[in-house]
Amino acid sequence: LEVRWPGVVITFILAAPMIYFSGLRLYDSHVLNKDRLNVTQRDGLTGLLNRPAFDEKIRNVGSLPGVIVMADIGNFKRYNDEHGHAVGDAALVQVAQIFLRHCRSEDLVSRYGGEEFMIFLPDTSREEGIAVAERLRQKLAEDSMEHDGQSLHITASFGVAVKEHENSNEGTIAKADAALYQSKHQGRNSVNEA
Ligand code: GH3
Ligand code: MG
Ligand code: MG
Repeated sequence: LEVRWPGVVITFILAAPMIYFSGLRLYDSHVLNKDRLNVTQRDGLTGLLNRPAFDEKIRNVGSLPGVIVMADIGNFKRYNDEHGHAVGDAALVQVAQIFLRHCRSEDLVSRYGGEEFMIFLPDTSREEGIAVAERLRQKLAEDSMEHDGQSLHITASFGVAVKEHENSNEGTIAKADAALYQSKHQGRNSVNEA
């Protein structure tokens, strides 16, 4: 396979800021940020809430019940190795946009770690939460990213945990993480409930 590097580089230089700024606009339109996010609350690559900002916001909503959805991109290390880090970055941005597009304005959507995303769906039932996670999983799996004439596919494993009034955020996140681990263990690209 012959890679035309000038083409790859120019495509990325042009595409990255466009994707980034359209992502920012999309996120700004989210009513979740009744108080607009400041730069220290955003993940620099995707424009999503970063981890400290997610932790703070979920702490602020306190005892609000809802559902935590955690997602982890499958075999992302290999993806980077095969297509390069820049393409990996663009894929992360695309994943973030898909998540935002299919969540409500009041949902907290964060990039929690490298290729890990944490979402809080306030005022959401167990069944609705599972349906949301399943929808996100499907959207990711069916969307392909065009790059240099190739379509590159990404999937993710999902873990879902219900948060009742009496549950702590940390405990619920830990349950979602454990459910996510089960999804990975079962072969990835699936949704598991704690
Ligand atoms: P699994 O399917 O089990 O989740 O495997 P994985 O390869 O996705 O998970 P692993 O934890 O082994 O690797 C995560 C990879 O995510 C490694 C790291 O290079 C990549 N990564 C983390 N942050 C970024 C980033 O900002 N940009 C890019 N391109 N890659 C990133
Ligand atoms: Mg991971
Ligand atoms: Mg992964």
